[in-house]
Amino acid sequence: MHEQDIEKILFDAETIRRRVDEVAAEILRAYDGKDLTMVAVLTGSVPFIADLIRRLPRPLRLDCIGAASYRGGTKPTELTLTKSLQLDVANRHVLVVDDILDTGATLLRIRDIISSLGAREVKLCVLLEKEVPHAENIRADFFGFRIPPHFVVGYGLDFREQYRNLPYIATLKQSVIES
Ligand code: 5GP
Ligand code: MG
Repeated sequence: MHEQDIEKILFDAETIRRRVDEVAAEILRAYDGKDLTMVAVLTGSVPFIADLIRRLPRPLRLDCIGAASYRGGTKPTELTLTKSLQLDVANRHVLVVDDILDTGATLLRIRDIISSLGAREVKLCVLLEKEVPHAENIRADFFGFRIPPHFVVGYGLDFREQYRNLPYIATLKQSVIES
């Protein structure tokens, strides 16, 4: 069962909802008068971007890019691109949306790929940003919450492909991580 694997809930559904409202308001202001193409980094950003776009009452385009790291556990491994963009981003303002910025390796690589496709501007929006000196010296332009360097699950974030459907963000019991 899911619930009994949880150690501590960091952000409950209501807290996330209120914060997503605020992030959406920031994005609306920042892109006033500009075109907007939003790119979801699969799979972890799916719940976040689904909630976010429904709070953006303005024209926008939505695409997905596939990136997988942390294959099967909590230790990062090499990044694999699993799906490329479908939309043309040449000359566009692109906002990349991901679940979490940890070392920054994933988003740095994705930003470079989208820039090389001729985007006019590439900005980053993450639900969570870890409070660690990012190895890649990269920061999100928009973020939901800053968290200590713990491994978290829920609201899109997985451990071995489970827990993405939890409506809150939480840490897992050490016994679950070690099992
Ligand atoms: P980075 O490349 O910034 O080190 O890591 C980014 C990716 O690693 C995220 O998109 C996410 O898939 C995964 N990741 C990093 N930290 C966590 C975490 O605390 N929990 C989960 N579930 N995934 C994480
Ligand atoms: Mg991810």
